[in-house]
Amino acid sequence: MSAETHELVVVGSGVAGLSAAVYAARADLEPVVLEGPEPGGQLTLTTEVENYLGFPEGIGGMELIQRGKEQAEAFGAEFVHATVESAALEDRPFALELSTGDTLRTRALIVATGASARWVGAENEDELMGYGLSTCATCDGAFHRGDDVLVIGGGDSAMEEALFLAKFADSVTVVHRRDELRASEIMARRALEHEQIEFRWNAELLEIHGSQDEGVTGATLVSHPDGHPTERLEESASRTDAESRAVEPRDGEEVEREEVDVGGIFYGVGHVPNTAFLEDTPVPLDEDGHLLTEDGMTTETAVPGVFGAGDVMDPKYRQAVTAAGTGSMAALDAEGWLDQEAAERLEASAPA
Ligand code: NAP
Repeated sequence: MSAETHELVVVGSGVAGLSAAVYAARADLEPVVLEGPEPGGQLTLTTEVENYLGFPEGIGGMELIQRGKEQAEAFGAEFVHATVESAALEDRPFALELSTGDTLRTRALIVATGASARWVGAENEDELMGYGLSTCATCDGAFHRGDDVLVIGGGDSAMEEALFLAKFADSVTVVHRRDELRASEIMARRALEHEQIEFRWNAELLEIHGSQDEGVTGATLVSHPDGHPTERLEESASRTDAESRAVEPRDGEEVEREEVDVGGIFYGVGHVPNTAFLEDTPVPLDEDGHLLTEDGMTTETAVPGVFGAGDVMDPKYRQAVTAAGTGSMAALDAEGWLDQEAAERLEASAPA
C-alpha cells in the first residue's frame, strides 16, 4: 500500500460503509474501503430483505451488497481486504495499522464497522460454536435437515432464524427468557402461527451437550415462571448457606432444569458493536461499546475528522435502510469537514 495520505478511509463494507463509499466517491474523495473480517456485513447473512425501499418483491441480502459494491467501485472507491488492528487518532493525519501489516494514513475516517452476533454465555459454547452451534441460520441451517433445533432469543433475528430453519428441521423450538417477544408484530405473528415452530417461554440455555466429533446432541434448559432464570440461579449461587436456609422457596419459585435432545442450536440474541480497535483512542464509546456521535442529526464524533455510520453508532433503529442513510450522512459530513480543513490549512500556510 502506498505511503500517501488519503482524503477518506471507510472502515467496514456493510450497507453503511458502501453507502458512505458511493457518496464519497461521487464527491471525488477517492475513498479507500477496508472490507473487514466479514465483507458485506450482516446483510450477507440475511435471506430476503423485504423492507428496503425500492424493492417491492424483496431483494437478497447478498445481492443488495454486491450491487452496492459495484456502484461504489463504478464511482472510484477502492476496496481493500483488510481489518484495522489499531488506530492512532490523536494527531492528523490519522494512522491505521492493518491486519496486512500496512499502515494507512488518512485525513478523515468513517467508522462503519457494524456489529457482530452476541453469544449467550452457555457452558460449552466456545467448544461447540461451528459444530452444531451457530449464529447464522442462513449459513448453517441446511446442515440440520431432519433435526430438532433450538433458537435462542425473542427479537426479529430469532424469528427470522426460526422461520428459515423450519424449512429444514423437523422441529424448531424458540427459547426466550421472558413471556413476551421483542420481535416486530409481523415477524412474531409469522413465527407464532407456524405449525413447526414451538415456543419455550421464560426459559434460557444453560449448557450445550456434545463434542466437536459428534456435534450438538442436546442442551440443558432452565426455566422460571417469572423469566430470566439464569439470573435467579446466579443470585441463589451467591447466597451463603445460612441465607439459603432462611429463604423458603414458594411453589413455582424454584428454577427448573430440563435436558432436551437436539441436533442444532442457533443464537439470535442481538449484536455487539465492533469497536475494539477504538477502545484506546479518544473516540468516545457508550457502555455497550457503541460509537458516540454528537447530538442532533450528525455523524460527527468528539474527534474532528472521525465520523460514525450504521449499526456501530445506532443502538436503536439498526435497519439496512437507516444504515444506508447514516452512511450517506457520514460521507456528506466528512466532505464538508475536509473542505473546511483544507481551507484552514491553506490559510495557515499563506504568507502573512
Ligand atoms: P434484539 O431486538 O436486541 O433482540 C435480542 C433478543 O435476544 C431479545 O429478545 C433479548 O431478550 C434476547 N437476548 C439478549 N441477550 C440474551 C441472552 N444473553 N440470553 C438470552 N436471550 C437474550 O436483536 P435482533 O433480534 O438481532 O434485532 C436487532 C435489530 O435488527 C432490530 O431493530 C430488528 O428489528 C432488526 N432486524 C430486523 C429483521 C427483519 O425485519 N427481517 C431481522 C433481523 C433483525 P429480551 O427481549 O428479554 O431483551
